Amino acid sequence: MRLVTYSLDGETLVGKTDGQGIARLSDRLDAPIPDMVALINAWDHVAKAVRGIDRYDQPLAGVRLHAPVMRPGKIFAIGLNYADHVAEASMEKPRDQIWFTKAVTSVNGPYDPIERPRVSVELDYEAELVVVIGKRCRHVSEADAARVIFGYCVGNDVSVRDWQRRTSQYVLGKSFDTHAPFGPWIVTADAADPANLPIRSLVNGEIRQQSNTRHLIFNCAAQIAHLSQAMTLEPGDILFTGTPGGVGVAMKPPRFLAPGDLVRVEIDGLGAIENGVVMEPATPDL
Ligand code: ZN
Repeated sequence: MRLVTYSLDGETLVGKTDGQGIARLSDRLDAPIPDMVALINAWDHVAKAVRGIDRYDQPLAGVRLHAPVMRPGKIFAIGLNYADHVAEASMEKPRDQIWFTKAVTSVNGPYDPIERPRVSVELDYEAELVVVIGKRCRHVSEADAARVIFGYCVGNDVSVRDWQRRTSQYVLGKSFDTHAPFGPWIVTADAADPANLPIRSLVNGEIRQQSNTRHLIFNCAAQIAHLSQAMTLEPGDILFTGTPGGVGVAMKPPRFLAPGDLVRVEIDGLGAIENGVVMEPATPDL
């Protein structure tokens, strides 16, 4: 099942899609569904009703899709989680999971522009499988981790490399506005196998990254088990699960993104997101 957040006539809505049309869910269930987090929270109650909906009267092409979770409580991302990416970064294979956050203000829609910052030209892409948490949980074992996953999306962990590497903390280089596009929808957990998903990125049609999520060093279950030792995970929290080799900064010479470029990330079975690169616009007056 595929679930979307979209806007139509000035309203932001939640729906179910078959890839062609959308069935509006926001006011069709017996619980109010103002946003995707509300739907996830109500899921045990409403899943059966949502599953039964099979009329998609709003054409998908007529709406604007947003990131499925527009305002996650938190966004975590893991570094150096594919062996070929570790090698191209000239790093050691990590013994411990390396986590950083992306600011929630970096969330971006699946087809919306990525901004090249005014303060850097080292703009780069990272194709990633994204996990959406479905249940409030703490100290989840690897064996139980699948039960707290609501679904999966396609994501791009857009990175500003000089800001990422300037200090020992990645967070600023990973947190620029517009630098966490994901979507185009959530594929619910029952409909995807996170351990075997072909993943690739393309810049202006040229394949840059090509791998499979089976090559993750720490898989989704291990990630959830590890993170939830430290903190409570909540419905709608987002995990970026790592990127394979082929990022622009590792090319010789490096090939960064520039205004006018088009970056596409595809995961077979989940869909694709596509973001054009623009210059960061002028800042509105305070
Ligand atoms: Zn990443």
